[in-house]
Amino acid sequence: MLNRRSIQKLRKKHIAPSFSVSYDKPLHIVFGKGQYLYDSDGNKFLDAVNNIQHIGHSHPKVIEAIEIQSKKLNVNTRYLDETIVKYAKELVQKLPVDLEVCYFTNSGSESNDLALRIARMLSKSKETIVLDGAYHGHTSALIEVSPYKFNGLGGSGCPDFVHVVSRPDPYRGKYTGQNCFKEYLVELDNVLNKIKIKNKGVASFIVEPIMGCGGQIIFPSGFLSKAFKLVRENGGICIADEVQIGFGRMGSHYWGFETENVIPDIITVGKSMGNGHPLSAVITTRDIADRFNNGMEYFNSFGGNPVSCAVGRSVLKVIEKEKLQENALKTGSFLIKLLKNLKKEHPIIGDVRGRGLFIGIELVRDKNTKEPADIESKQLVNRIKDKGVLLSVDGPFNNVIKLKPPLVFNKENAKFLVNKLGQTLEEIKKQT
Ligand code: PMP
Repeated sequence: MLNRRSIQKLRKKHIAPSFSVSYDKPLHIVFGKGQYLYDSDGNKFLDAVNNIQHIGHSHPKVIEAIEIQSKKLNVNTRYLDETIVKYAKELVQKLPVDLEVCYFTNSGSESNDLALRIARMLSKSKETIVLDGAYHGHTSALIEVSPYKFNGLGGSGCPDFVHVVSRPDPYRGKYTGQNCFKEYLVELDNVLNKIKIKNKGVASFIVEPIMGCGGQIIFPSGFLSKAFKLVRENGGICIADEVQIGFGRMGSHYWGFETENVIPDIITVGKSMGNGHPLSAVITTRDIADRFNNGMEYFNSFGGNPVSCAVGRSVLKVIEKEKLQENALKTGSFLIKLLKNLKKEHPIIGDVRGRGLFIGIELVRDKNTKEPADIESKQLVNRIKDKGVLLSVDGPFNNVIKLKPPLVFNKENAKFLVNKLGQTLEEIKKQT
């Protein structure tokens, strides 16, 4: 077995440098089970960040599904196969009735790329509306609609067919206060007018109903439903990017869009759907799918293959059987309560927010100025790792600690995490 140093050396030589590695001293993880990861020195880590392994690392039901179906058959979707249709049916049963037609893909990016293509073909326009700070994927088309990337390091700015509305962030957004959603809607309305003045139609509004990379943002109440209404009145298609937040993570609901009381025209899903197996989808209405069916075939070598669909079915079943949505609600609410108590003891915690097991802790140097504590956030993530907890940091100011553990995370894990957070924040305080 290669040791950590040889892996690092080979990685430097053969893996492209744009791939990043977490932590100042990278981890060499060799084993995973449930909500725990183990490194090559035998250290155990509580995983509070890997939302892809939604039902837990190395879940036996996923392994079994891969094994059984791989032994039987794996081909593309050009043959009749019962696994894909059963999976599609089970998947859409989790959705509002009109969202009933699936395209299977292999990554969240591929799904969003296809969703944009559908909206652009139907509207005969490229004009796309996004929220500031949003990330929707790594393909060329998605970098163009991801302010997180095009305004970030190495980015080349906003294309002229992309229109950015300020991030509706109730904590540090451009507008705050009780009725601030109205001001974000004014911005959206201005954008729609700008598109009209150009004599163009609007293709789509693509949005995560709760923003992930944007900083775990829960929108001011009323924003998303009214935004969808406005976009539709102007002929646009509303795409909900559920890649990070779907499949019960919200606790109170199965999907993020349900927490905002909207029904999108298209949803995109991925990540958690295959528990680490590359499986994702675009789900839409019959009407949209029929209008997109213009003669050009949709073929995808891997998307929707029987092994992937067997994995998808096993994930849906486990969420149900192990009551993981209920757990996300119970454990998530408990964790948020503990974190809010911790906030009272540590002025560096400016805000605690989240739904279910999708939580953000925003660190600030001063509660009044809200100066982002970015260096401290990075220190926290590195130091708490040495205490056995894995977290990550994100948001436009690199000061939001993200918590999005596998849904098997329990109350004992929550207590352990908050205890280690408290200890680490004390250490950081003493040092400054
Ligand atoms: N949408 C969102 C909201 C995401 O967070 C991500 C990945 N972080 C993607 C799309 C892209 O998914 P993938 O990495 O599977 O291409």
